[in-house]
Amino acid sequence: MSKKLKTHHQNFVFYLALRDLFDWGSKAVRVSGYFDSEEEAQDAARAYRLENNIDKNSLSRLDVVAQAKDDLPSSLCMTCDSQLVEISNQTLKDIKALKPNISTLSAKATKGWWKICPLCDAYALGIEFEEGFPVRTQDGRIINFQELVPELDFYS
Ligand SMILES: [Zn+2]
Repeated sequence: MSKKLKTHHQNFVFYLALRDLFDWGSKAVRVSGYFDSEEEAQDAARAYRLENNIDKNSLSRLDVVAQAKDDLPSSLCMTCDSQLVEISNQTLKDIKALKPNISTLSAKATKGWWKICPLCDAYALGIEFEEGFPVRTQDGRIINFQELVPELDFYS
């Protein structure tokens, strides 16, 4: 099994990675979002093994991997790994006026732009509206949220 992990360290997150058992050079494929504790990750690993017959077919190895939070690409959602988008101060005000639940807004703005996950906060960004709120994508496009919806992976 994997080496002992540093558990409950607030500077670490955990994820599940699948590796081809017969090809040690293979790259581990990350198959989960991030977990705050090793316990959570181990629970998810048990469920994943059952669901996917990992132990039975023995073609793959599932590892719980610890990653320093500082090494996380800040451009990805901690919950679902989607690429974050940004909204302006004004858009945030407009959104907040509707009093939605917002779960992924960044703690602070960078030059007046707030990071937010388009998948986790799709409702706050207006997925139910004919016209959603304007968002800035990582390649610099400022588009209406509705234009981004087809690019989002709601089913992974
Ligand atoms: Zn997300």
